[in-house]
Amino acid sequence: MTSQFSAYVITEPCVGVKDETCLEVCPVDCIASTYEDDQYFVDPEICIACEQCALVCPMTAVFLDIDVPSYFKSYINRNADFYRRNKGEPMPVPIDKALTMIQAGHAKALELDIAVSVSVVDEGGRLVAFGRMDRSRPMSVDISINKAYTAASFQVPTTDLGSVSSQSWFQSLIVSSQGKIIAVAGGLPVLGEPFVVGAVGVSGGTDEQDQECARAAVAAY
Ligand code: SF4
Ligand code: SF4
Repeated sequence: MTSQFSAYVITEPCVGVKDETCLEVCPVDCIASTYEDDQYFVDPEICIACEQCALVCPMTAVFLDIDVPSYFKSYINRNADFYRRNKGEPMPVPIDKALTMIQAGHAKALELDIAVSVSVVDEGGRLVAFGRMDRSRPMSVDISINKAYTAASFQVPTTDLGSVSSQSWFQSLIVSSQGKIIAVAGGLPVLGEPFVVGAVGVSGGTDEQDQECARAAVAAY
């Protein structure tokens, strides 16, 4: 998975401090470390360059990659290396499991007496499969795909994005993604072991009903 954005980089002033202030503000949970490492690192493939970590860091340790001072340049590789060491390539959701999840989402929708579309994407937000129930609105297909895309991109339930959806950086992302990013209920990431391997999106019911169908789909993974 390759980021289309520049990424932020954590540099030397974090060493030995690790006070975790930046972890609390990162909207995509892409800052990590281990007990053995003496600083935190940003995953350059996930970082959406929202700047929040740099704004709150008490040590001024965080820079956009193109702005890293020359004496800290080695930290660009050091951040990326941390993830190369600690993260294998995630396996995307296989098609048979995607179809099982879609069936589970549809079964929940039948229970709720609604008709929905359920979509499954891989960890990069690329469509694996979708299923549209009879009587569901045609537009529910695209909306379910967009919800899944958003959940995969941010690696959080789309309901978690409500608090940031009015911020200017998020609005810019909506525009640059041509509306593929949406912060409404019904998108859930699918957790593999231990990384996000894809996401599910559901559209056709109320927010709560879409969310319930998405939960049923993820539970079937
Ligand atoms: S710039 Fe934003 S997305 Fe990137 S690490 Fe910092 S808080 Fe997270
Ligand atoms: S806020 Fe700054 S010093 Fe604290 S953990 Fe994050 S990068 Fe390191």
